[in-house]
Amino acid sequence: MENKNALSDLVIVYHRQPYEEHVENGQVVYKEHASPNGIVPTLKSFFGSVELGAWVAWKQVEGKGREAEKFERVVRIQDSYGAYNVSRLPLTAQQVRSFYHVTSKEALWPILHSFPERYNYDAVDWPTFREVNRLFAGAAVAQAAPGAVIWIHDYNLWLTPHYVRKLRSDVKIAFFHHTPFPSSSIFSILPWRDEIINSLLDCDLVGFHIPRYAAGFAAAARNLKGAKVLEEAPAPASLSHQGLALSQASSPVKLGYQGRVIHVDACPVGTNVPYIRELAAREVTREREARIREELSGRRLIMSVGRSDYTKGTRDMLLAYERLLERQPALVGQVQLLVTSVAAASGMGAYRNVQREIEQISGRINGRYSTLAYRPLWLSTAAIPFEELIAYYRCADVCWITPLRDGLNLVAKEYVAARFNGGEGAEGGNLGGALVLSEFTGAAVELDGAVLANPYSNFQMDAAIDRALAMPPQEQKERMASMQRSVERYDASKWARHTLEKFKTL
Ligand code: UDP
Repeated sequence: MENKNALSDLVIVYHRQPYEEHVENGQVVYKEHASPNGIVPTLKSFFGSVELGAWVAWKQVEGKGREAEKFERVVRIQDSYGAYNVSRLPLTAQQVRSFYHVTSKEALWPILHSFPERYNYDAVDWPTFREVNRLFAGAAVAQAAPGAVIWIHDYNLWLTPHYVRKLRSDVKIAFFHHTPFPSSSIFSILPWRDEIINSLLDCDLVGFHIPRYAAGFAAAARNLKGAKVLEEAPAPASLSHQGLALSQASSPVKLGYQGRVIHVDACPVGTNVPYIRELAAREVTREREARIREELSGRRLIMSVGRSDYTKGTRDMLLAYERLLERQPALVGQVQLLVTSVAAASGMGAYRNVQREIEQISGRINGRYSTLAYRPLWLSTAAIPFEELIAYYRCADVCWITPLRDGLNLVAKEYVAARFNGGEGAEGGNLGGALVLSEFTGAAVELDGAVLANPYSNFQMDAAIDRALAMPPQEQKERMASMQRSVERYDASKWARHTLEKFKTL
């Protein structure tokens, strides 16, 4: 199995590379991610099910010069997940900017998240988007054994299934959306809607986090292309709590189109619960917690973790915090808000103003309420390492997650997993704490026990944070136990098992 030309039964196509690339003593070395948390390790865990895995990602390589010539396209990696080939698709800076920063982030992302007013059509170069997707398809089929599953991830590769299908009729094509899928009226804003749905209908399996998004896709496929819903099933009880913004009573299971059957699936990605619990139990986490508590000097910690993105609703959450301090002056000096709003890569025009506004509002709040001994808001625009985040989760009385729209939101699930307090399973005890969660996150249909908030209503946002801060300890523990059961039910390994079972049915 040392041959780099050996073919794989499972080819994962994901825009990011599955390792960290470092230069040591002038040599490039590929290192496994320090933390097994996050989507990349979850996807790599699938390689345990095949003899040789393959992964396709892009890598920016400049021009036609010497760097491009000596670029090693396929590298063989051997790490704790097994042996796998990584095929790096060389893209120029211009291709990356056009396909990823502009078309994906300025045109597709706002539509997927139902923000048509943010949609920017003018800058899109669709031929480049097509071309990059076609190149991904070529790289994927080059790794695929006869009958292999090629598993493509996310909207920036929406056209790849079509090009794979043109090249190979023997392979199974699966696709997973890590984002929401909008209603067909919003989706139809995209002038390339036909081409996108056609490509998704070339798949054998199209996956989503929750039934609402699967239903959105089925509606678009039916309305725009005349695909038929061949089978529909009640949504699992654990994902169909009634009366929520994203409740969906039933979920499409199979579509029929041009004589083919397309499986549709909804299963939320999970966190690595055993790893979070292991981190929570470490001595170093205890020490970190002690330092955080010392800094808090008895104040209650509210935390809000996310990226600088208009979908994350950080602006509205900050304004709600300002109103909280105005409304309840007794809390001034008694509460501490920690916000991480991780800045997007430079050059992402779509996010520039978002960052500026968050910094401005944060500055105003601190300006209004700070004393020499107290600063009501800690803002970090750099990511907090995951291991440290766990210590903060364990110190936080409230986790405040109120995106305007979010495919799932793993932070909410991580907070719940980190509130574990020893013993077996959810019944083994928990630290209590309250999760305030936007109804417009995928996780809201899963986490029965969160204090749900509608971020489009000041009144509801205020009521939710008041409720969380006033929640009696017993109620906190009961709600947390219920949420811990959900997080265990849909953890990362469950998602992997579920998906592998689906692959077998294709
Ligand atoms: N994260 C982190 N440090 C930070 C902020 C975020 O490690 O300062 C991690 C967080 O733990 C989570 C991920 O980034 O695993 C964010 O995932 P989520 O689904 O919440 O949001 P996304 O960024 O994918 O929209």
